[in-house]
Amino acid sequence: MSNLSDALLYINGEMRPASDNKYFDNTNPWTGESCGKAADATAADVEEAIACARKTFDETDWATSHDERYAKVCKFVEVMLANREKLVEISRLEAGAAIGAAARAQIDGALNGAKDLLVCYKEVKWELDRGVKNEMGFDTKRIVQHEAMGVVGAITPWNVPLYVNVGKVVAALLAGCTVILKPAPDTPLMGSIMGELAIEAGLPAGVFNVITSSDPAMAGEMLTTDPRVDLISFTGSTAVGKLIMKNGAESLKRVFLELGGKSAYIVLDDAPEFARVVMSSMVVFHAGQGCAYPTRLLVPKSRYEESVKMLEMAYAGFADKWGNFEEPTCIMGPVISKKQMDRVLSYIETGKQEGARLLAGGNARPDKGTGYFIEPTCFVDVSNDMRIAQEEIFGPVLVVIPYEDDADAVRIANDSIYGLGGAVFGSTERALAVAKQVRAGALSVNGGMSITGDLPFGGYKQSGMGREWGVEGIEEFLEVKAIGIRVS
Ligand code: NAD
Repeated sequence: MSNLSDALLYINGEMRPASDNKYFDNTNPWTGESCGKAADATAADVEEAIACARKTFDETDWATSHDERYAKVCKFVEVMLANREKLVEISRLEAGAAIGAAARAQIDGALNGAKDLLVCYKEVKWELDRGVKNEMGFDTKRIVQHEAMGVVGAITPWNVPLYVNVGKVVAALLAGCTVILKPAPDTPLMGSIMGELAIEAGLPAGVFNVITSSDPAMAGEMLTTDPRVDLISFTGSTAVGKLIMKNGAESLKRVFLELGGKSAYIVLDDAPEFARVVMSSMVVFHAGQGCAYPTRLLVPKSRYEESVKMLEMAYAGFADKWGNFEEPTCIMGPVISKKQMDRVLSYIETGKQEGARLLAGGNARPDKGTGYFIEPTCFVDVSNDMRIAQEEIFGPVLVVIPYEDDADAVRIANDSIYGLGGAVFGSTERALAVAKQVRAGALSVNGGMSITGDLPFGGYKQSGMGREWGVEGIEEFLEVKAIGIRVS
């Protein structure tokens, strides 16, 4: 496997190493070995990026010159599109995406989303005429103005790095904010490359900055606590999301959180193509490392045994179809890191101890390579109060739970601290009625796409607050100002 280029810092329009010239290894999850190096930012580098983003916001017309800014962001997206192959390569080597997952979900999903955001931008209303009102005995003409929030700290995870980076950076730039992106230590180049592409696109210096760091918390904590940063847009675990909210409280930071999930995949007894639908519930795509992935399969008790048999067949049929770096149809590779592998394996042990029955998988697979391979795993006879049904595992693990009737399916789906996504299959009216009762931010009915760049995405309950993507995802970065002009 080839090596990747160095991930450098991007500050004030320049790519450069850290101020102390230190680097850390960019680890390839397929091999567990280094596939490149990344600049390890110091606190002084983070400080410089914050000062630069603040100065650029305060002292240039980036926030107010809507048409010029739009043209520049369009060019930035165009350059990203032209570099698709390079981005696919990074997602394969750095995020461990199999080719079948890398091109489709990791990169095309992100690039199509970027194009969607450019279209959504046209719907943003910068100024609204609220008419003349007579109040206190005189007339006032009223305007509501929308304007950029200011300096944005964008903190992102490793699972779909380009998708999350784009959802924040492109939307915030379109809104007129300046941005400091801090990618996860596991996927530094997918952040850094955006700096290189910004230079190629001629984005003005200072409007976009990238900080890579081996310390998962240092740069993020500086962004969260610094009063010069107006808004934190965070995607990651619920635990770190809570910490960010706490740390941001002192400066009353605007905080938008896209967090974890434990979404339900509900199959009703009248689902067309029942067998295919049950078999498609396997949690294998990108080794299950997707926040909105429906990882709890809910099947009717009346068709439970039949469903278990179908799943057994599906998992057996998939046994030799994963973990192949070169195979174009492969959709499942390793998990991201040794740490993540240990976490997933420990949940598998928990499932066994809780009394769930292991139908498939359950083991690490060193024979697949020196990286972090875990078999596609399925637990049946799971009850929703087990930890494997309540906690986010973030690996290739499906849990199967029987339910009595539609109301019971809704109850189980909602019996979770999370509320991010979900899927319902059945006759359309009935499936839609169930979907409307699930308390989550994105629901698919009979396989429909509820997560695309022009639709708002975000969580209920502890899956987060705020919405990314769509017009709502741009408006998240705007302040609202009411202006009253006395006219009589
Ligand atoms: P994580 O919470 O460990 O880290 C996310 C980011 O936060 C990283 O950049 C990390 O360096 C940074 N960070 C860590 N500690 C910090 C601190 N104290 N202050 C500021 N920043 C800090 O999550 P992860 O392991 O990188 O990603 C997996 C998680 O992300 C899963 O829980 C998954 O569900 C979630 N996720 C959610 C969405 C969504 O849109 N809701 C999308 C993708 C991933």
